[in-house]
Amino acid sequence: LGGSISRALQQMSNATVIDEKVLNECLNEISRALLQSDVQFKLVRDMQSNIKKIVNLDDLAAGHNKRKIIQQAIFNELCKMLDPGKPSFTLKKGKPSIVMFVGLQGSGKTTTCTKYAYYHQKKGWKPALVCADTFRAGAFDQLKQNATKAKIPFYGSYMESDPVKIAVEGVERFKKENCDLIIVDTSGRHKQEAALFEEMRQVSEATNPDLVVFVMDSSIGQAAFDQAQAFRQSVSVGAVIVTKMDGHAKGGGALSAVAATKSPVIFIGTGEHMDEFEVFDVKPFVSRLLGMGDWSGFMDKIHEVVPMDQQPELLQKLSEGNFTLRIMYEQFQNLMKMGPIGQVFSMLPGFSSELMPKGREKESQAKIKRYMTMMDSMTNEGKLTLDSTNPKLMNESRMMRIARGSGRPVREVMEMMEEYKRLAKVWSKMKGLKIPKKGEMSAL
Ligand code: GDP
Ligand code: MG
Repeated sequence: LGGSISRALQQMSNATVIDEKVLNECLNEISRALLQSDVQFKLVRDMQSNIKKIVNLDDLAAGHNKRKIIQQAIFNELCKMLDPGKPSFTLKKGKPSIVMFVGLQGSGKTTTCTKYAYYHQKKGWKPALVCADTFRAGAFDQLKQNATKAKIPFYGSYMESDPVKIAVEGVERFKKENCDLIIVDTSGRHKQEAALFEEMRQVSEATNPDLVVFVMDSSIGQAAFDQAQAFRQSVSVGAVIVTKMDGHAKGGGALSAVAATKSPVIFIGTGEHMDEFEVFDVKPFVSRLLGMGDWSGFMDKIHEVVPMDQQPELLQKLSEGNFTLRIMYEQFQNLMKMGPIGQVFSMLPGFSSELMPKGREKESQAKIKRYMTMMDSMTNEGKLTLDSTNPKLMNESRMMRIARGSGRPVREVMEMMEEYKRLAKVWSKMKGLKIPKKGEMSAL
């Protein structure tokens, strides 16, 4: 989906003149991509006509603003399509939170439970997993394997057949063990049937979860609407996680259908592995679909913040898509010099929501300072690691040395490397992009 949409935009950008024909071609291309990913026809049609209303070619001042206005209109319309109009849910620390996962069999609940636990564990939570799926043989083994791999405590039984009993026992045990994020995995059925909903209702009543997460497979596309509604009517679903977005097939349809049920999507699953899991935020997601961050704003900021002599090199590195620890270090340096941080990178998908959440700039600044201290002690490790794009070079003994050298715990070095890997992934998506030079900015 992202590929076709950004290609359509790119083609438009390559056109020398933007007239009605070029605009129509671009919109048709985007519409086709959306329909292919199973977005509802009506939504696509509305999007197309809204954009045409906003982008009245005759009214636009001559030449250079057209592209920008069209891109912005496309961006806004896509955001509208995916925005449930409700803020997404955040857990509060400081007391044990109970999160119950529901969804049909095969939707990815068990996998997603572990990803969710792992994600929060890295952020300093103390998660635990409870297997209340007594329906499917092998359910407990699967959860046990996942949990063991991620070093997360788990609870379950091979003998007990009452899901409510296990759920309650597990929650009680982990409360006593001071876990602050107790995740209850439940069973599914192949179909939405009364027995499933009744079981969910009972488990929910017995464990009194702070949040019920509905897990859904993206490949069902538009059908996501009915499924999400059905679950919402039986249990009080507070958030949705859409899995298998890596399959691409019908992801756009699923996401827009969920948005239409007014349920906030909090994460998307992008693979079978533990770390193939992303926070879902409409704006950065759409930026990425369009194949870019907010480029015009981003470039303006680069020109403003990055010293002149470093600009060409940075842009070159951006278009190569290779992100090294040294680049991260240099950009952190630039950020720190800027004062209020988060301005440049907040324009890039991936940088903003994770590294620098809004309203927590002070914490983020402190974190970046810590990262820099650690990277400072890495210069002693030789140029190799800093200039490599292979995170595997950073083995355990090297991390230990860096921790010792910088006086920080190994956990923080690992956290920094995770951050690095995440940013590198974002950068790699920019590979091959045509990056405008300063003079060309207005043409964007
Ligand atoms: P459950 O029955 O709802 O607990 O679903 P499982 O967690 O057992 O997942 C069913 C299958 O989907 C497994 O083979 C998972 O590896 C796979 N799966 C789950 N999430 C993802 C994802 O985001 N991407 C891909 N490609 N596969 C996934
Ligand atoms: Mg399961």
